[in-house]
Amino acid sequence: MGWQSNGETVTTLASHQTAGLVCSHHHLYSSLARGMPAPPAVPTSFRGILENVWWRLDAALDLDSIYWSAALGAVEALRAGCTTIIDHHESPFAIEGSLDAISRACDDLGVRHILSYGVTDRWSNGSLVTDIPASMTDGARLGLAETERYVSGGGNAMVGVHASFTCSNETLEAAADLARRLNIGVHIHVAEGPDDKDAAQRIRHLVDDTWLLVHCVHLEDDLPGTIVHNARSNMNNAVGYARPARFKNRVVLGTDGIGADMFEEARIAYARLREHDVTATPDTVWQWLENGYALAPASRNDVVSWNYDHMNEPWRLAFTTGVTATDVVIEGQPVLKEGRVTTVDVDEIRAKAEEAAKRLHQRLES
Ligand SMILES: [Zn+2]
Repeated sequence: MGWQSNGETVTTLASHQTAGLVCSHHHLYSSLARGMPAPPAVPTSFRGILENVWWRLDAALDLDSIYWSAALGAVEALRAGCTTIIDHHESPFAIEGSLDAISRACDDLGVRHILSYGVTDRWSNGSLVTDIPASMTDGARLGLAETERYVSGGGNAMVGVHASFTCSNETLEAAADLARRLNIGVHIHVAEGPDDKDAAQRIRHLVDDTWLLVHCVHLEDDLPGTIVHNARSNMNNAVGYARPARFKNRVVLGTDGIGADMFEEARIAYARLREHDVTATPDTVWQWLENGYALAPASRNDVVSWNYDHMNEPWRLAFTTGVTATDVVIEGQPVLKEGRVTTVDVDEIRAKAEEAAKRLHQRLES
């Protein structure tokens, strides 16, 4: 399998090694969601989950919690042999500097990252609105400015958009425009749930091959771009099966914020694929994993050693749990040695993240 070879580089990998893995859709801000206070009522729909869990959480984020959440997520990524995180971030009341906070956390750990700030018009004058305004809100404007500022400072990014169903046409057009101007792609949730089923109509005239289309569960038409499949998240939100094998597009794998263990994601994506097609093989899903290198080619040069041999055999990996990275070398630098992160004091990160989580959860209670 190509994901085990190092492409054109001269590094030769042993059978217990692979290149660095790529998480093609993450939300590092979700690390501190674990243990958060339960919603006031049990959500009964996809929109209910967004409103009562994720939009409640992202509204309570500040730059401090964003940093510690990202640092904790980056530790988990290294331990799972994931060396590039393609992140999608939203913090509507702490927009400016948010991408720097995430970038700093990833840099401190040594994890490669491609960031985006997800713009939306669902906030108006500090409150959540159901009817999306006809024109761009100040929040969306600030979000685009954050991306432009981050990219101008040398940051590796895509233009983030939450989803077309929470954005005005003006915002969608401005995001596409900024992406063209900065010569980068757009990273957007597409047709994840029934609420966004007209996404294709809304963005068809804007999309090109550089766009990263996340979920696409209810996408019936073809659009250009790369499709990110997030098997676990889709099951957890009961939005349906995306049937990614039906697309002609390049398909890659993301976790949608459920850590960065790409083998676990791949195993579950395989089980889900197989549930719908008993003739399918793990090679299909491992190809989706490998496709991540088209978005993050540098990870191909990283070297991950595992506690398991046969790392080039998807049939074995699809049925072997507990495969763990022991050593990770990124850009020639060892960042994980015998299971220990070398770049930071992980105990300190855990302690600080726990304090930040307590403060965040208190804000959610109030
Ligand atoms: Zn997502």
